[in-house]
Order: sequence, then C-alpha cells, then structure tokens
Amino acid sequence: MPKTSKYLFITGGVLSSLGKGIASASIGLLLKQRGHSVTVLKFDPYINVDPGTMNPYQHGEVYVTDDGAESDLDLGHYERFLDVNMTKANNATAGQVYFEVIQRERRGEYLGKTVQVIPHITDELKRRMLAFDGKFDFVIIEIGGTVGDIESLPFMEASRQLTLELGRRRALNIHLTYVPYIRSAGELKTKPTQHSVKTLMEFGIMPDILLCRSEMKLGREMRQKIALFCNVEERSVIEALDAETIYDVPQMFAKRNLDDIICEKLNVRKRVPELDTWSRFTHRVRSPKHSITIGLAGKYIQYKDSYKSILEAFIHAGAVNNTRVNVRWIDSEEITQATVAEQLDGIDGLLVAPGFGSRGIEGKLLAIQYVREQNIPFFGICLGMQCAVIEFARNVVGLTKATSSEFKKNDQNVIDLLPEQKHITDKGGTMRLGAYPCHIASKRTQAYKAYRNEHISERHRHRYEFNNDFRDTLTAKGLVISGTSPDGRLVEIVELPHHRWFVGVQFHPELKSRAVTGHPLFIAFVKASLAHHLESIDA
Ligand code: GLN
Repeated sequence: MPKTSKYLFITGGVLSSLGKGIASASIGLLLKQRGHSVTVLKFDPYINVDPGTMNPYQHGEVYVTDDGAESDLDLGHYERFLDVNMTKANNATAGQVYFEVIQRERRGEYLGKTVQVIPHITDELKRRMLAFDGKFDFVIIEIGGTVGDIESLPFMEASRQLTLELGRRRALNIHLTYVPYIRSAGELKTKPTQHSVKTLMEFGIMPDILLCRSEMKLGREMRQKIALFCNVEERSVIEALDAETIYDVPQMFAKRNLDDIICEKLNVRKRVPELDTWSRFTHRVRSPKHSITIGLAGKYIQYKDSYKSILEAFIHAGAVNNTRVNVRWIDSEEITQATVAEQLDGIDGLLVAPGFGSRGIEGKLLAIQYVREQNIPFFGICLGMQCAVIEFARNVVGLTKATSSEFKKNDQNVIDLLPEQKHITDKGGTMRLGAYPCHIASKRTQAYKAYRNEHISERHRHRYEFNNDFRDTLTAKGLVISGTSPDGRLVEIVELPHHRWFVGVQFHPELKSRAVTGHPLFIAFVKASLAHHLESIDA
C-alpha cells in the first residue's frame, strides 16, 4: 500500500451530461492499466440523503453496492470499468454531509460554536476525501453538477482547500468542458469554456488539464487558443470527441497522452500500460459476428438511464458471445392480449425488468406467458422474477387471483412481505439491500450451468419475497427453485426445467456485470437467445 495517495479532482462546466462519470472511470482505467490502484469518490450536490427514493425518470437507475448503499449510477461505471467494488464511502450527497454535521451539532459536539459551511461542512467533506488517503495510489474525486451551481459551492471550496494542503505534487484539477460547433458559422466556439474556467478560478481552482467535449476535432490552433485564454498548457488541452461506445473513451484519452501527462504532473514514474485486455474487449464490442434482438419490457422505457446497468450488462455479455445485442423497448403498459404476439414477434429473448408498483404488471404477465409457451428465452429480474412466479401460479397452477401484495392483498399473494417487514412505514433505506449469499440447489439447473459454482453472492434491492406458503403448490407443478438463501428460507432463483432458458432472479445480477468479464447469467441468457436466433433463421 502507498503511504499517501495522489488526488485527482474532476469538475464539469458549461452544461451537464458531458460524461464526467465516464471520464472519471476512463482516467481510472488508464491508471489501473499501468498497475496503479485506483478508487473513485463521487459527490452529489443535491439534498436527498441518497437517491433511493428518487424517481428513476429524474435520476436514472439507483445503483446498489455490496454493502447496501443506494447510490448514484456513476458508481456503476466505476465498477464496470475498473473491476473494483465500491462501498458506501464512495458516494456522498450534500444531504448526507449536512445531515451528519447537523446531528453532530445536536449532540453538542461543536461546543456552542456557530456551525457554518466553512469550515464545518467543508471539513466534513475533506474528512470524507481523506478517508481514502494511503489506501490507493490514486483517489479520483468526481464532483457532480456544473461549476457555478449554488449547491456545488462547498464541494468546490473543499477541493480548493485540499489542493492547497496536499500541494501540486499530490493534487491535480481536471475540468471537463464543452466546445460547441456552431453550424451556421462553421466554427468551434471556445467562449463557453473560457467562461467556465473563469468561474472555476473565481473559486480559487486553477485547472491543470482541460477535457474538451466536442463533436469536431479541435486542431492545434483551437487548443492553443483555449490554452492561452484558460491558463493551461497546450498539451493539457485534451479533446474528448463523441465516442462510438463509452468503452472507447479510455483509448481516446490515451491517444492524447492523458495518462502520461497526469503521471508527469504528479511526479509518478511512468509504467508501461497493459492494453491488450481492454482493446480485445472493445474490438468485440465494435465488430461482433452475430446480432440478436432482446425485448426489454418495463415501465420506464422513455428514460433509458433507468436500465443503465442492464444495457451495459448486455454489451459485456454480447462481447463474450461475439454478438451485438439490440434492445427492443417494450412498454409493459401497452401490451394487451390482442397485441402481445405482434409486439414480441421476432425477439430472440425477453427480459422483464425490475420496478415498483402495479402499473404495467398485466402486460408483463402476458409477455411472460407468451415466451413461456413459445419456448423463447426468458430472464426476469427482481420484479420480473416476481411476475414470472405470478404468471406461473395463475396459468399453470390455476391460482387465478395470484398476485403480489405490493399490488393487491388477497389470499393468493404468492409474492409477499416477510412477516418481520410488515410493520415498516419509512420509505428510505428500508428494503433488502446489498449483497446476500445464495446457494444453488443442483448442478442440473440453468443457474448452476451459468455460474459453475454452488455458492454465489448477488445484490438486492426489494421489499417483497417469494411467499413460502405457496412453495409446495408451485414446485409440485414444475417450478424449480434453483437458488435460495443459505438457510433455505428465501427464494432467490426460479426456473423452468423443460424450457430452453427460463430464469427469474430475486436479485440484480446486472449490478455485478463487469466490462471485460461480463455476468454469468447475462452471458448464459445471451447465449441461449443466440442459439434460438440461429435456429429460427435456419428454419
Ligand atoms: N417492487 C418489488 C419489490 O419491492 C421489486 C423491486 C425491484 O424490482 N427492484 O420487491
């Protein structure tokens, strides 16, 4: 372990959605390829204590770590790129930080002092940043939001203070900005970047490196101009062009020597990077041999970020199978008995997505019934698994009122709360969250064939569970419970043995899919869907 860590502060300017999370993950990967240990810490300036209760339309998917943090989806990018596990300590919101300071004040720990943004909030921020010191070679600190936002002020101030305290050999400021191309003028414009850097400097932060998002090449002259106006060396003005896939971004940065520049500025001896693993992966992403279409049924399909990790898991599993996975979005609220066959026509597999609430459930059940009867590969995740159990109970077992107590309480709640959960009223942080061990029952199951292991661990985020009162009734009719908690009490995986590939999981496998290696269940699902595809074009 290093004695001290080098710190990279990453801020963003001009507008949001420039890809700060991907930039941070990519920089992390470049350093990791040189044999350095890296972690990333993400600060979100909003007041919510965690994104757990936020609407997926506004905030995208809620990412869950092994230790049960409900966190920002950027943590998913860090895990996928860097192949490391994030923890609660890797994501902090302004809400969390203020909450902590206010609690301390209530306990009288500030001894009657006036509690203020500077130094109390900023000290708490620095404490969280320094908690990683000495544990990694590099600590990347990504500050959410855009420079100049009222909410991000304390974060900027904390990074300014820390840059000064650590010194230029231990801290770098990297600013991601935007250089728009104005079509009518046929020109790239540097003014927004100039203004953004000016705002940053008002807070006392001098960027060492500028990453310039642009749809056109910047060219030498443009870089010289930005360098001059923004007080940055010319070689440190780095263009960040739109990439074909996010996984190309690290190589794009490396071409502009970003990792060399970082190492030089921080006085880190340059090591030869190991590039083959990643470039083999990106090559397979870019030019696969096969192509399949997976139907993704969910209710948040207008906002694709709600299913971010699932989409990424398909890219990884596709690369392993040398296959491009095209996703056909199916709005579960639009599925009807009359249209289901047409809506699912031509898909090679169906994934029913996680979700909350009763909207769109009947459509999901119709879709599941269709693929079950047509022997089309099916993968149900969390709510998707619960729907598969309900569909089976209704249409195979004949429990016509079968449902989850999340939607309607009755005497056929095949999905229900555990007895000990029934009194909970708080909405934040009260679900089964984080990693739990799961035991796979038999080597003959699809689950075992995918994992090749009887002991696995997967991440959860749900309240409801398979109701054990119906276990015997359902298994007697052929539903196989292939994975349970080690004590056998909680059902984690169900499948249908006479089906080509029909697997439902109570957990979220997509949260553990990593870029180069993929996730066993996604790999097996894509493989089964590809086999189905190849057979159907043969026929
Ligand atoms: N709404 C279901 C539950 O709480 C499923 C949650 C999910 O799909 N993540 O159990």
